[in-house]
Amino acid sequence: MSRARVLVLNAALGPLDYRVPHGMTVEPGSIVVAPLGPRQLLGVVWEPERMPSDAEVGDNRLRPLLGVADAPPLGAALRRLVEWTAAYYLASPASVVRMAVASTSALEGARTATEYRATGVVPERLTPQRAQALERIGERQGLIRELAAVAGVSDAVIRGLCKAGAIEPVEVDIDSPFPLPDPAHGAPDLSPDQQAAAGTLVEAVAARRFEPTLLNGVTGSGKTEVYFEAVAQAIRNGRQTLVLLPEIALTEPFLKRFHDRFGCEPVAWHSGLRSTQRRRAWRAIATGEALVTVGARSALFLPYANLGLIVVDEAHETSFKQEDGVHYHARDVAVMRGKFEGCPVILASATPAIETRQQVELGRYAELKLPGRYGAAEMPAIEAIDLIHEPPERGRWLSPRLVAAMEATLAKGEQSLLFLNRRGYAPLTLCRTCGHRFQCPNCTAWMVEHRLTRRLACHHCGHIEPVPRVCPECQGEDTLVACGPGVERIADEVAALFPAATTAVVTSDTIWSPAKAAEFVGRMEAGDIDIVVGTQLVTKGYHFPNLTLVGVVDADLGLEGGDLRAAERTFQQIRQVSGRAGRGSKPGHVFIQTHSPKAQVMQALITGDADAFYEAETEARRDAGAPPFGRYAAIIVSSEDRATAHETAVAIGRAAPRVDGMAVYGPAPAPLAMLRGRHRYRLLVHARRALDVQDVIRDWLGALQWPPKVRVTVDIDPYNFL
Ligand code: ADP
Ligand code: ZN
Repeated sequence: MSRARVLVLNAALGPLDYRVPHGMTVEPGSIVVAPLGPRQLLGVVWEPERMPSDAEVGDNRLRPLLGVADAPPLGAALRRLVEWTAAYYLASPASVVRMAVASTSALEGARTATEYRATGVVPERLTPQRAQALERIGERQGLIRELAAVAGVSDAVIRGLCKAGAIEPVEVDIDSPFPLPDPAHGAPDLSPDQQAAAGTLVEAVAARRFEPTLLNGVTGSGKTEVYFEAVAQAIRNGRQTLVLLPEIALTEPFLKRFHDRFGCEPVAWHSGLRSTQRRRAWRAIATGEALVTVGARSALFLPYANLGLIVVDEAHETSFKQEDGVHYHARDVAVMRGKFEGCPVILASATPAIETRQQVELGRYAELKLPGRYGAAEMPAIEAIDLIHEPPERGRWLSPRLVAAMEATLAKGEQSLLFLNRRGYAPLTLCRTCGHRFQCPNCTAWMVEHRLTRRLACHHCGHIEPVPRVCPECQGEDTLVACGPGVERIADEVAALFPAATTAVVTSDTIWSPAKAAEFVGRMEAGDIDIVVGTQLVTKGYHFPNLTLVGVVDADLGLEGGDLRAAERTFQQIRQVSGRAGRGSKPGHVFIQTHSPKAQVMQALITGDADAFYEAETEARRDAGAPPFGRYAAIIVSSEDRATAHETAVAIGRAAPRVDGMAVYGPAPAPLAMLRGRHRYRLLVHARRALDVQDVIRDWLGALQWPPKVRVTVDIDPYNFL
């Protein structure tokens, strides 16, 4: 190949052609360094016929490539996935391929570092400090600062020992190999139901067959144990597994369970990794050495050398939908990746999305069911508390029946969980005298009071301000009042009710790293926490056998706003959080505080009749032509200048093509009319399922131009209507 088409990693540029200099070999998928003007850019070599270029340059005018990365080329299946994702979500291929080439330092090839270890030589001058250091270091090997930390001495002591010959340097590959999981390590005895499901999955992995399967089991039925059997089979075959989790906070408990089952931790991939950790993980994934990778959605585009299985755990979670950059849905892209790689894809959920159920209905996905909890655990009893008939005391949020249940739980030495999906102390703060409300200067949103940090914060853009003592409007002193509860306020109420109990607030403000999550899990398991007050962060994944009571503080909250999935999401969320109760041998109890206990979703939760709820929801969607029976696409137009955003949105609306089976609504100001200082307008495209709505939008927007400061974003299959 003397000429190469290269997808340079710059979203604004199309593919470019280069000359391959003498002595350099590249193939499709090779990661290369290409010149662009005075700059050097990374790029990936692509098949020219699959990536047409609109600016063909003659051979004699091509510039030569500058280098090839010391890393395996991106495989054909991944290249097909990049093309599919770019076409489906109307994104530039470069912005998709960038997610595959996610560690630039990984491209530099093997590197070494200097580590140190004891030689066994006893130094002539053996101070007590030196003796202590050598004893504690023992057989360990590490960087100077790591050894110093282990030994509890300063770096200088270690250096001194090195000079004295008691410690020596060794050159090591900085990418130390990952341990190999052992499929036989902690194999469980499966129940007959579990055995049947696991057998089917294992068989699909062994057969290397693309097969999307919904693993539909109630909370606590052992879905993880079951799909671990499929993982074990992939390991035995030497093929890689990717497990996608909806949230990095869930990584830590997962690592622990994986360790119990396979004797070591899998490779973790998430935004919290340091650059050296990313590099090591990326290289191990690209060479095939990393047999099992667990990660958030960004792990989906990594260059696995031989993928044999993909698991999407808690597959119904809407956090799999990426809301910036490339607006993709990781669950759907995972299925496509399985298709291109030719491997099974397991979607595990206790509350599968209607979209997924419909695929099962149509026979496109297989379904395996686990109808009961594992072992002696029973599904919890669920009751509604009608807030109209049994209201909390004035100024409080917990009704007497829930408080009594908490008291009884505490007396038995068991744990309770209160769920309220609202961070902070109060969702709205206003001045009692003049009614002034605190609004974010950058967004159409109220500032939320956080008492733990003594700040007002915007949950959309992150803007924070101190809580003023004086009202900025009327100058009244100490006139600010908090309206409505957030988790911090509930925690205050709990502290007042049960002063002797230990309460933990669990939100993204308190659990912001895997280490924080691990600490929380440790305290729960040790019984150091009596009552947890948390947001959706505590609704899933966790397994605490001593947690027997769950209280849903405001079940109606998720129904406000009313987007098309509001009822489904409320059902899923409350079902999930209920699933935290009574997972061990002790029975669980759930109380749902609501103003409308007769509402269909509340009735479905209380009776546990999920099928009836889903059937009614599905029919409502079918009638409305909503997903999965019809399709939506959102077009969001934003600019710092309101008039420019509005004009562009109107121009886009006017240019909307007339297509049979497609309607365009708007533009209208977005519910979040201003976000991060940008004014926003939305158009909503509604189309019948069979219409290639991407093609229509591509032609429609492709023919238009707008001022450079206007951003036009297309969101295919939107989940967020703000
Ligand atoms: P799910 O993911 O369906 O909510 P889990 O896989 O977390 O359920 O299982 C719930 C609990 O039951 C876990 O502690 C798990 O280790 C345990 N468990 C499930 N199946 C088995 C089994 N066959 N043998 C031993 N423990 C099991
Ligand atoms: Zn804001």
